[in-house]
Amino acid sequence: PVRTRIAPSPTGFLHLGTARTALYSWAYARHHGGQFVLRIEDTDVARSTQDSVEQILAAMKWLGLEYDEGPIYQMQRLDRYQAVIDQMIAAGTAYRCYCSPEELETMKAAQDARGEKRRYDGTWRPEPGKVLPPVPEGVKPVVRFKNPVDGDVSWDDLVKGTITINNREIDDLIILRPDGVPTYNFAVVVDDWDMGITHVFRGDEHINNTPWQINIFRALGAELPAFGHLPIILGDDGLKLSKRRGAVSVTAYEDDGYLPEGMLNYLARLGWSHGDDELFSREQMVSWFDGSHLSKSPAQWDPAKLEWVNSQYIKQADDARLAALVQGQLAKRGIEASVERLTPMCTLFKDRCATTVALADWLAMYFAPVNPSAEDLSTHVTEAVKPAIGALADKFATVEWNKVAIQAAIKDVIAAHGLKMPQLAIPVRVLACGRAQTPSVDAVLELFDKNMLIERLRSI
Ligand code: GLU
Repeated sequence: PVRTRIAPSPTGFLHLGTARTALYSWAYARHHGGQFVLRIEDTDVARSTQDSVEQILAAMKWLGLEYDEGPIYQMQRLDRYQAVIDQMIAAGTAYRCYCSPEELETMKAAQDARGEKRRYDGTWRPEPGKVLPPVPEGVKPVVRFKNPVDGDVSWDDLVKGTITINNREIDDLIILRPDGVPTYNFAVVVDDWDMGITHVFRGDEHINNTPWQINIFRALGAELPAFGHLPIILGDDGLKLSKRRGAVSVTAYEDDGYLPEGMLNYLARLGWSHGDDELFSREQMVSWFDGSHLSKSPAQWDPAKLEWVNSQYIKQADDARLAALVQGQLAKRGIEASVERLTPMCTLFKDRCATTVALADWLAMYFAPVNPSAEDLSTHVTEAVKPAIGALADKFATVEWNKVAIQAAIKDVIAAHGLKMPQLAIPVRVLACGRAQTPSVDAVLELFDKNMLIERLRSI
C-alpha cells in the first residue's frame, strides 16, 4: 500500500512549503487509498520546542490534513537507532571515528588551502589490510556511514526526473553523534524504512541528502521508497519565500482571516496543476492527484491570487460559520458581538470581502464608533442636508425597525425635503458607517441597533 509522510522539524511554525509538501503527501496517499504519517524530527535538541510541535499540530488540524499514524517523535526512538547502528558496525557498513573537532578543522583547512572539496579523509575508515590508529583515551566517537567509493547513485525523481550522483562526490557521513543522537540523514532512513514509507515528497533543498540516504537504505538491505523533490516557493521578488518577506507560517494566514479550504486550494496549485482548473475541493484534488503534473520549476507566491481564491470560498461559506470567525476577529479588537447578530451581516457583506479580517473591517461599524473622514463629512454632510438627516433620525425613532419601514422613512424624508435618493443616502452612510459607499442603504441600516444609528445621525 502507498504510505507517505510529512516530517517537520519542530523548530518553528508550520512553514508554507512544508504545508504544501504535507498536502501533496496526504493527497497522494488518499488518492491511492493508502496512509499518511506524521513524524516529528526533533533530533536538533537545542532548537526543537514543544511549543513548535503544538503549533505544527494545530496548523495541520486547521488545514484538515488528517494523518493515520503519529505524531511519531524521533527522540523516542533512540534505542532503535542505536540497534541499527550496532548492526551496521557489525556488518562493516558503519564505523566509529575518533577524530577530534580540532583534527577535523585542520583537515578542512588543509583541503581549503589545496583548493579541494571539503570531505572526511577516511582516517578511521576500515579497509582490508589497513591498520587503524590507536583508539585515543577519553574520546567519545561519532559513527560514520561507510559510503561506497565507486559507482553512481541514481534515482528517478517523481518531480525532477532521473538524478545521478557519483559516489566520489560524497564522503563518509556522520550518522550518530557522540551523545547517541542520530543525524537527519540516518534517522530519516531508519524511520522511512520502519514506517514502510513508499513515497517521499519533500523540498528540493534535500536533493543533496538523497544519495546518502539511498546508500544507507541499500546498506540496510531495505527497499527504497520513491522520491519526489518539490521546487522551492519564491516570493514575488523572485527570492526564496522567507520570514523577512511576508508571512510564511500557516498560522499567520489563519490569523489574517483566510479559510483553510482557500489556503489548501491555493497551495495545491503552487507547483501542481489539473488542466485549467483553479477552484476545486479537497475531494476533487484527491481524485486527481496521482503524482503527475508536478511542476519542475519554482512556484511563485502570489498574494493577490491567494486573496482571489479565498474570496471565492468566503462567498460560498456558511454564514453562521463566517460569523463565528468574524466574532473571533472582532474580539481581537476588543469588540464583543454575538454570532446571531453577525450572521445576517456576513450574508450582506461577504461578497465584497476576501477574508474574515476584511469582513471584520466592515462589521466593526455595527458595534464600535466610526470615524468618517473630514473630507467625506465636508463633501457629503452639508449644511443643506442636515435638516433632512435630523428629520430622518426623528422618523426612525418612531418606527418599528425593519427594512420596509426604513425604506418608507427615507422616501418620506426625501420627498418632504425635495432631495434625490443619493443626496440623503450618502451622508447617512458617512455618518452611520464611516464611509460613503456601502451595499444598499436600507439593507445596511436594518442591521444597526436602532438607537446607535439614531445617535450617529444626530451627532452632527
Ligand atoms: N525534517 C526535515 C525537514 O523538515 C524532513 C525532510 C524529509 O522530508 O526528509 O526538512
